[in-house]
Amino acid sequence: MTKLFKNTIVIGAGAAGMMAAAVAGQRGVSVLLIDHASKIGEKIRISGGGRCNFTNVNLNGGDGSKHFISQNPRFVRPALSHYTAQDFVQLLKNHRVKYHEKHKGQLFCDHSAQDVIDVLQAECATGGVEWRTGCAVKNIRALTGNDAARFELDTANAGVWQCQNLIIATGGLSIPVIGATGFGFEIAKQFGHTVTELSPALVPLVFGQWAEKGWTNLAGVALPVRVSTGAGKKATAFDEDLLISHKGLTGPAILQISNYWQTSEALRVDICPDVDLTDALTSGKLGARVQLDTALAQLAPHLSKRLLQHWFEQPAFAPHAKRKWADVPDKVLKELAASLNAWTLTPNGTEGYKKAEVTRGGVAVSELNNQTMESRLQAGLYFIGEVMDVTGWLGGYNFQWAWASGVAAGRAVG
Ligand SMILES: Cc1cc2nc3c(=O)[nH]c(=O)nc-3n(C[C@H](O)[C@H](O)[C@H](O)COP(=O)(O)OP(=O)(O)OC[C@H]3O[C@@H](n4cnc5c(N)ncnc54)[C@H](O)[C@@H]3O)c2cc1C
Repeated sequence: MTKLFKNTIVIGAGAAGMMAAAVAGQRGVSVLLIDHASKIGEKIRISGGGRCNFTNVNLNGGDGSKHFISQNPRFVRPALSHYTAQDFVQLLKNHRVKYHEKHKGQLFCDHSAQDVIDVLQAECATGGVEWRTGCAVKNIRALTGNDAARFELDTANAGVWQCQNLIIATGGLSIPVIGATGFGFEIAKQFGHTVTELSPALVPLVFGQWAEKGWTNLAGVALPVRVSTGAGKKATAFDEDLLISHKGLTGPAILQISNYWQTSEALRVDICPDVDLTDALTSGKLGARVQLDTALAQLAPHLSKRLLQHWFEQPAFAPHAKRKWADVPDKVLKELAASLNAWTLTPNGTEGYKKAEVTRGGVAVSELNNQTMESRLQAGLYFIGEVMDVTGWLGGYNFQWAWASGVAAGRAVG
């Protein structure tokens, strides 16, 4: 059987894979980009509510590693400093893509996420990248004794290919219906790599007896909170919006903290982050004529009526809701304040990969070169994007990692 050859084969035509293919191709390298899905860049298409939050201005120089979770977050520094948010913005400007900045430095397309896919495809075309979509890779073998062809791939419908460099850009496990697979992790293991523990991240959290406790009646209620988890040096907090859903809690605050949440750990939610309620409730009650529930509504006007009503249905507070604020004992007021400023609850789990935006964990970064993303165990083998043990915050950080790691590998093979 004829064996076809490209200098570099990239498996996975998502964010990282298309970027790496384009960069390598434009450096004169012959590149084949393979994806088993018939449509490429599906995660880009559905991202950011269809507008793709493609990067974040916080990744313009400086130390971006605090926005990433990994066994070694510092691993991301060289790649992020060699390809910054501004570099990606410049690429979009070159293609006249209009964008805007939202909350906390997040950049979105004005028009549609398709603009980003079009830019990457155009860049691949400029680099002469050849494509095979709807093409599954069945086996990969390392070849020995020939530096020009170090790998051989059997594909389901595009023959047998050899290459010098093989870039794995198959992403994580989230949203299997649009083509996510564990293929990259299997290939990593085949070549002796460690794959760290995998779990859904940037994901809604679920709680036991949600309906029984009446929370489903509050589905749709949103409010700004401070959410935290972990203790001591491992404590992490986010000030963001929380949304109550039929299954549990979601919204940006919960998605962010889910990146850090460990099974059986509690979450602390401060639902009045700007008010010290212990002080406000105990010192403000003197001579007050209003009812306690009215007083709380005035002290925390961002809490909806439905939420306050639900709070006062708890047995500890129900008898006091309609009492005159001044008559409520300090002990009760302190308990009420603590329940709101430090609402503590332990998730049962997450909504899983069906709803997760990303996968936490992946190919151990200690076994990869942080300048090039090349394996330290197998020359010519690269891992980029979400398949690696690098998980970004919500807000464009994951795409910037896909671009930056893709550029690093694309430059290295070129
Ligand atoms: C709903 C949703 C919204 C998101 N919104 C944002 C956002 O706004 N901003 C942000 O920064 N991040 C966002 N993310 C995360 C972001 O999409 C990913 O981190 C990013 O796409 C990872 O890029 P990647 O190239 O590593 O993987 P992917 O983009 O997932 O690409 C992997 C590619 O590999 C292909 N593939 C998988 N298995 C195989 C196989 N066996 N053979 C061949 N090909 C294979 C897939 O078909 C896919 O095309 C979102 C994710 C989701 C699910």
